Amino acid sequence: MLKSLYHKNKTFTIGILGGGQLAKMLALAAYRLGLNVAIIEKEEQSPAGDMTKFDFPKGWANPEELQNFIKVSDLITLENEFIDPAIIEKIEEQRIVYPNSKTVRLVQDKFIQKTTFKNAGIPVPEFKSIEKYEDVVEFASKYSYPAVIKSRKFGYDGYGNATVFNEEEAKSAIQRFSLNEQRKDIYIESFVDFSKELAVMVVRNQTGEIAVYPCVETIQYRHICHSVIAPAEIDEKLRKKAMEIAISCVESINGVGIFGIELFLTKDKNILVNEIAPRPHNSGHYTIEACFTSQFENCLRAVCGLPLGSTNMITPAAVMINLLGTREGGGTPSSVINLLRHPKVHLHLYNKKSSRIGRKMGHITALGNSQTEAYNRAKSASDALEW
Ligand code: ADP
Repeated sequence: MLKSLYHKNKTFTIGILGGGQLAKMLALAAYRLGLNVAIIEKEEQSPAGDMTKFDFPKGWANPEELQNFIKVSDLITLENEFIDPAIIEKIEEQRIVYPNSKTVRLVQDKFIQKTTFKNAGIPVPEFKSIEKYEDVVEFASKYSYPAVIKSRKFGYDGYGNATVFNEEEAKSAIQRFSLNEQRKDIYIESFVDFSKELAVMVVRNQTGEIAVYPCVETIQYRHICHSVIAPAEIDEKLRKKAMEIAISCVESINGVGIFGIELFLTKDKNILVNEIAPRPHNSGHYTIEACFTSQFENCLRAVCGLPLGSTNMITPAAVMINLLGTREGGGTPSSVINLLRHPKVHLHLYNKKSSRIGRKMGHITALGNSQTEAYNRAKSASDALEW
């Protein structure tokens, strides 16, 4: 039986661990559903913290701040997977957290994540943990170079990955990782010669009810997501396969909430899982305008024990393009006028305090009758933004 976690006759406050753009878009969906929002993040004026009087800018590492955040939150969710699961366990003594600490434990360490998927029979690239240099030699002799050495934790936008083509490069990558306290635990996986990268969003509630969004294509430049094409232009059979694999991933970690599953489509038409994110995901931003229910609303529905909304698209195609920082400096563009002259695009700016080269500062979504039409609309609008 679906148990709604809304209290009767009382405003319900959803606490979000993290205050970045994902929390901001979750908050926008929450307010529309009549929920209140509390944010904990270790900075003042975070994109989501700025939206609520329940803003706790000293972060969850501060026990008093965390307790104040817990006190005002009826239920807690997260916008990033980097929080220590031990802290989530502490919170769970007082409040329900979705996704829970067990799920985060299985996901946060990419080596444990891959092992969990492999044990569940889900296809992943070959991989091996690195305890000593000989592990790399053994792996390379079995699967050959190139290979990707990855930090087990705290990687994002490719920070924490090194593609290596030979022994020498592997050695120097390991040395670099070993100097970095946060990223010194590493593993190696085979380099996948993919034809496309795909992603599927899956939403699942406490009763195990599941809804799946269409399979999309994601395009990365320098390991950072540049654009998302919905739906992916691949065979119907492959789309279905990708969706089935994504569901298995979420079930294997008993996930409640929303999950982004990143996949590789290999040149011989196999699908391998790259990784899962236990939260709203960049590949699902297009759902705000292009689907009946956005990934953010469905995340809230799932964690609050409400019926899940339709994940169907309301348009034949949609394209999302990230607005990546092109300079160091303030987080606001110098002008959006030329961009907004494009009437058929949706602009999202995250209001980050500062911009860095490659940092996600906002995004644009365009709908269209075809992927090409939507792409051209989104591209010409994003080119018109002036930083
Ligand atoms: P992060 O967690 O930092 O986003 P990922 O491990 O998802 O990092 O990698 C980012 C990008 O790097 C992927 O989207 C893909 O383009 C590339 N990549 C990662 N792992 C592999 C691999 N094993 N083979 C080929 N490319 C990879």
